[in-house]
Amino acid sequence: MSYFRDNIEALAGYVPGFQPTGADVVKLNTNESPYAPSPKVIEAIRNTAGEKLRRYPQPLGDDFRKAAGEVLGFSPDNIMCANGADDMLTIALRSFCDEGRGLAYPVPTYSLYPVLARIQNCPVVEVAFGSDFDLPDGLADAGAALVIVCNPNAPTGTFVEPDKLGELAAMLKRRSVLLIDEAYVDYAKANCLGLVRDHDNVIILRSMSKGYSLAGMRFGYAVACESLIAGLTKVKDSYNVDAVAIAAATAAIRDVDYFRTNIGKVKAQRTELIEALKDMRFVVAASETNFILAGCAECCAEEVHAKLADRRIYVRYFNLPGLDDKLRITVGTKEQNDKLVAALREIMRR
Ligand SMILES: *Cc1c(COP(=O)(O)O)cnc(C)c1O
Repeated sequence: MSYFRDNIEALAGYVPGFQPTGADVVKLNTNESPYAPSPKVIEAIRNTAGEKLRRYPQPLGDDFRKAAGEVLGFSPDNIMCANGADDMLTIALRSFCDEGRGLAYPVPTYSLYPVLARIQNCPVVEVAFGSDFDLPDGLADAGAALVIVCNPNAPTGTFVEPDKLGELAAMLKRRSVLLIDEAYVDYAKANCLGLVRDHDNVIILRSMSKGYSLAGMRFGYAVACESLIAGLTKVKDSYNVDAVAIAAATAAIRDVDYFRTNIGKVKAQRTELIEALKDMRFVVAASETNFILAGCAECCAEEVHAKLADRRIYVRYFNLPGLDDKLRITVGTKEQNDKLVAALREIMRR
């Protein structure tokens, strides 16, 4: 007999990426930004970390909702704050899914979705992506209450055009909610925010962890029509974002110049790194994210991964259906990428 519910007892649990320590490591395994947060963010944190902490924070994170609304062109009533995008995913699963209301998503994708479904004890329909990781048929007919599409997708780095997701939203209308996980959209050529205006069943999920360099802070948000935001708000913890995080995220989203500069640097490094990898005969798909998925034509990615780790260079190894023997490499600073490329040249020469 277990104290836990059967589904929790049987659950393996989500395994977060390895967090190596030490000054000399080259950490390219969990898709963080290689750049520090904006100086204005640090200033906002300093201004909050004092007497203000005595009080509870704004329950809805109103400062952030106002700032994000202005930057994105929406009303604050279209925006909901969360303790990281992962918190928002939990809130969505608790809001829409139960034993009779399932979850559907294309695979391979972010491995947290099935874990949240198991916790919620809801049915899951996984639909394999098309040949070039284009949006598969079958999501609309899966009979799920909630459909999640990660776009750009992780860990493939691929991108589905917003029009295609608009078509899916229209097919799901009055039956299911379409949540588009845009954790990596800051590095992509387009986004799906416009769908919120045309579809009352679309939720756009954003994270401040990647493009805004705030993974350690924990802040994410959703953009959707007012009635969806109002419903989701009933499910969240009363104070799910703390005062320091609200101040930091508000300053971050307002510092548009700093954000654009960093994104530009990562994209330029992405192009260089892809060229260098192709030069070493890695098979690399186009990436709309801050990471690159690489397969080996003449090597074993698992072995390369281990040899990089010996040199204290950390990337992520994947061996999944539709994604066998691949490396997922976060784009770092020029210095980090150069170290990676030099190590790969050495490993590939043997
Ligand atoms: C990083 C990531 C998240 C979670 O972001 P947090 O804001 O750090 O919780 C959600 N979805 C995907 C696909 C991610 O890669």
